[in-house]
Amino acid sequence: MGTEKNCRMCNASKTLQKSHIIPRSYFKSLKGNCGQLFSVTVDETSEAKLTNSDPKEHLLCRECEQYLSVNFEKYGTRLLKDRQKVKRSKDCVVFENFRFKEFYLYLISILWRASISSLPRYKHIDLGNEINHLLCHCLQENKIRIQTSLRLDHFFKISLIRIVDKTGQLDDEAIKKTMVDFNFERGEEIDDGMLYYFMVDGFLIIYHFSPEKDIHTVRTKKNFAQILNKNRLCVPISDLSNFKQLADGFASLTKQAIKYNKR
Ligand SMILES: [Zn+2]
Repeated sequence: MGTEKNCRMCNASKTLQKSHIIPRSYFKSLKGNCGQLFSVTVDETSEAKLTNSDPKEHLLCRECEQYLSVNFEKYGTRLLKDRQKVKRSKDCVVFENFRFKEFYLYLISILWRASISSLPRYKHIDLGNEINHLLCHCLQENKIRIQTSLRLDHFFKISLIRIVDKTGQLDDEAIKKTMVDFNFERGEEIDDGMLYYFMVDGFLIIYHFSPEKDIHTVRTKKNFAQILNKNRLCVPISDLSNFKQLADGFASLTKQAIKYNKR
């Protein structure tokens, strides 16, 4: 049973659903074969925490939850899961007939949920009211454009990277079965902006939020592995060791998993 509260999207006072921050389908597949969920939160100390919780929160009314599901989540979760439709070469995974807007807004919806969430595990993800409203507005209107020549993806650049362990210590199934929950890192310089990331199904998703003032730079600068508005998406395959925090988190997790299995 839900509770009567204001929906965080349409603001109507309704019975709210128990919403996931990271879509439920990922938790289902994590629980799949082994009945064990590995979720990692990497903080500044790079200490991974092993949990088997499946956090939910009353955020949205049924209509808004359905709206997000139908318009963005169905496509977004299928894209990363449906391996048959994917061509894989040595250094990238290729998705044909890529629907950029749908996928981009799907990823934005996850970041927005984490940002408005009051669950303790997402307390470090807080974009502030103004940005939260902007993201919510784009989701509701199903659009990326903010003004005539300004789009949300000028400020929030999202990169998608397929993570592998080239040393072979972690097999692909282990990587795919590990969910790395939301983290953030501040860039070295103020202009570097903020990085938010999480990992599901072997894909690392990085949001780069840069409050750059120069509009030309904002519009033209591209990041590594940035998803772009093209109908063919090439996702680079990259080694775990290229992402220090992630690699440290996995190393710490592996140690804990060994202890856990010995119990
Ligand atoms: Zn609603």
